[in-house]
Amino acid sequence: MTTCIFCNIIEGKIPSIKLYEDENVYAFMDIMPLTKGHVLLVPKKHIENIYDFSAQDASKLFSIAPRIANALKETFQPVGMNLLQNNGAPAGQSVFHFHLHFIPRFDENDGFNLSTWQTHEKDFSTEQLQVLADKIKIAL
Ligand code: AMP
Ligand code: ZN
Repeated sequence: MTTCIFCNIIEGKIPSIKLYEDENVYAFMDIMPLTKGHVLLVPKKHIENIYDFSAQDASKLFSIAPRIANALKETFQPVGMNLLQNNGAPAGQSVFHFHLHFIPRFDENDGFNLSTWQTHEKDFSTEQLQVLADKIKIAL
């Protein structure tokens, strides 16, 4: 048995509350929801993070995302929705099988707190942003 909890869920070896499944992806309820309707969408292949995705596998997963989001919107009428995806432990990844979080939002105190999100525009001038962009473009 693989040690990956999401592979085990996909293979039915660990129970989950399934929402959707096709050849490529699996969607289920997050067991520790941040808000009502917190859902995870995962590739069936064991892909650890965004860096390991092929364009083809990524498009198969992301092509389902609007359907999941619209089902949540229709069901719960949230006033907003955050899609979140963590890569690496310092970024908050705790399960190392790619997963896209769908977090419906109901108000600012609905359990998902982004109030510590601070911007740092004072640290980056337009010229500095251009230098950063030029470096990134080399790698693209
Ligand atoms: P992350 O911190 O981005 O890696 O998110 C991992 C998510 O997986 C968390 O929101 C957990 O609540 C969720 N999770 C962990 N184990 C299970 C499970 N057995 N069934 C459903 N969700 C799970
Ligand atoms: Zn896995």
